[in-house]
Amino acid sequence: MHVMVLGAGITGVTTAWYLRQAGFDVSVVDRQAASGLETSFANGGQISLSHPEPWANPAAPWQVLRWLGRDDAPLKIRPTTDPAQWLWAARFVRECLPWRTRRNTEAIAALAAWSGECLRRLRADTGLQYDQLERGILHLFFSPAEYAHAPARAALLQRFGIEARVCDADECVAIEPALAAQRAQLSGGLYAPGDESGDAFRFTQELAQRLQGGGMRFHWRTEIRRLAHSGGLINGAEVRDPDGRSGMLKADAFVVCLGSHGARLVAPLGERLPIYPVKGYSVTAPVVDPARAPMVSLTDESRRIVCSRLGERLRIAGTAELNGFDTTIRPERIRGILDWAAQRFPGAIDPAQAVPWAGLRPATPGNLPVIGKGRGVNLWFNTGHGTLGWTLACGSAAALAELMCGRRAPVEHFPFRRGA
Ligand SMILES: Cc1cc2nc3c(=O)[nH]c(=O)nc-3n(C[C@H](O)[C@H](O)[C@H](O)COP(=O)(O)OP(=O)(O)OC[C@H]3O[C@@H](n4cnc5c(N)ncnc54)[C@H](O)[C@@H]3O)c2cc1C
Repeated sequence: MHVMVLGAGITGVTTAWYLRQAGFDVSVVDRQAASGLETSFANGGQISLSHPEPWANPAAPWQVLRWLGRDDAPLKIRPTTDPAQWLWAARFVRECLPWRTRRNTEAIAALAAWSGECLRRLRADTGLQYDQLERGILHLFFSPAEYAHAPARAALLQRFGIEARVCDADECVAIEPALAAQRAQLSGGLYAPGDESGDAFRFTQELAQRLQGGGMRFHWRTEIRRLAHSGGLINGAEVRDPDGRSGMLKADAFVVCLGSHGARLVAPLGERLPIYPVKGYSVTAPVVDPARAPMVSLTDESRRIVCSRLGERLRIAGTAELNGFDTTIRPERIRGILDWAAQRFPGAIDPAQAVPWAGLRPATPGNLPVIGKGRGVNLWFNTGHGTLGWTLACGSAAALAELMCGRRAPVEHFPFRRGA
């Protein structure tokens, strides 16, 4: 059976990998000249099994109101005239109900735990190198009120087999000595030793090269314009090739992994994917003083900023803007991230050589990805991973491959799509 994977970001490439492993004949289509060039290009680098809590939680609406008008707000809403934005925002508010937040958190934690296992197995099987570090993630709290929630978070994670322990400020500095200068401001932390970090773009490219080397067909610089369908069956993907010619790519089944752009493509088929772009920013800068730069991946819970050491570089990422499909890099956002680095790790990086980036997280209101069968006979989804696309990539793709083989879903507690 020939399966066509639409999109070659981290999600599409891992989907192609696991489908190939399951014995499918697979091809991949993407408008870019190579894999991982859109949202998977310069994310925070965290394999953050220990952060299943979605943005949509009972405190979020009040936080957003408090941040209104602030340029450095961790989550900023720039209203557009797009009804899809308003609908998404309304659904986001609904997901903030306590029982929905709890359900979403548990579903993500279950998928994350499985995904961590899948990543470790894939790495053992392939020996892929992508500036990975298996040193865990340390969540930092700079306010006693936030730190007070750490024990409950640790308990939830432990229920899903994700190791996490609460640390006082001294233990945080022992885990990551580059935090020594922050000791006085730090309330404490939550350390998840099984978490990892690494360059998602390098991973995606290495995996795509293995697949290409093994004979898998990638249609690069090929824009998907429409999915042709009749009677609930997708007949082909109508595309424009690199020379501007239109054509139809045929397959027996199609998997949508198109990031923020999939929802518009499948809407004419009656599929309502609740995915909308949430822009985020990162900065990647060379480390100039290794003793001052962290090796352990960090999450500053008070500022919603993460950082990961990628070889000789430090990647710092964060912020969220509900801003439509606009990918403009706003200087004030980059300045905020660089100021954070200068304050937390003075002298660690060279800001003059920092490379700024912005990408669109394909976000669902509750941060639950859409994985499984569409309403169409031969349409499948693995998309909408929002803030956790790198973390959940291997597990989501492996789960989809199981479902497409007609086997049981490998993760209990996760609401896989079952079609019409
Ligand atoms: C600032 C920031 C920090 C982040 N940090 C982390 C982190 O630390 N850990 C984590 O787990 N996640 C993180 N994420 C989230 C993660 O990066 C995303 O969830 C993930 O990259 C999404 O991957 P994707 O494959 O679904 O989308 P993409 O990488 O965007 O891939 C979609 C592909 O579809 C192609 N495409 C789209 N439309 C068409 C079309 N019409 N025709 C042909 N091709 C098309 C695109 O070219 C693209 O290659 C972060 C995101 C941001 C923005």
